Amino acid sequence: MIHETDMMQDIETVLVTEEEIHSRIREVGKQLGDLYRGKNPIVIGVLKGVVPFYAEMTQAMQIPMQEDFLSVSSYGGGMQSSGKLTFRKDIDQDIRGRHVLILEDILDTGVTLKALLEILRERGPASLKICTLLDKPSGRKVELDPDYTCFVIPDGFVVGYGLDYKEYYRNLPCVGILKKSVYQDD
Ligand code: 5GP
Ligand code: MG
Repeated sequence: MIHETDMMQDIETVLVTEEEIHSRIREVGKQLGDLYRGKNPIVIGVLKGVVPFYAEMTQAMQIPMQEDFLSVSSYGGGMQSSGKLTFRKDIDQDIRGRHVLILEDILDTGVTLKALLEILRERGPASLKICTLLDKPSGRKVELDPDYTCFVIPDGFVVGYGLDYKEYYRNLPCVGILKKSVYQDD
């Protein structure tokens, strides 16, 4: 059962603290800012889990950029990836000839991002790269490596800093493993 007054009560282990998140994003953001300076990139956020990461990372990059968002679904609200990619919202801008950077909350099986990359590549961007907040390499089912990773984490279902369970815990400032007691009866 989801705790009604204290989100941290539902966290088994904190994997990445609030402070670690902020300092790592500042570090990677500086690198990305240097790499994309003068390239006028389109930075695409994969909704909804990317929201806090997107806000912090794009500010840390400190360069002119255009922003856009898309929404796909492979989990359908539960904890298992259904493997089927559904587009809920596409980006608004034309990416042909543009440098595109995709920001994602977590890379697990890789199924979602691989399908997404194929669709976007067909639109003819000048470059197409991925930066993920979290990488769970143990979960990979397709061959896909992110170009930039903030944190590599072990297997396990995590929530916080944008990541949800049934739309809850996205506003938790850290990333942690959800207690089994929260979802075992679902
Ligand atoms: P993939 O297609 O790589 O398996 O999964 C990508 C999407 O699945 C992520 O963008 C995220 O929405 C969801 N996901 C994968 N692992 C986790 C996890 O540990 N916790 C949560 N909350 N979502 C996850
Ligand atoms: Mg996501």
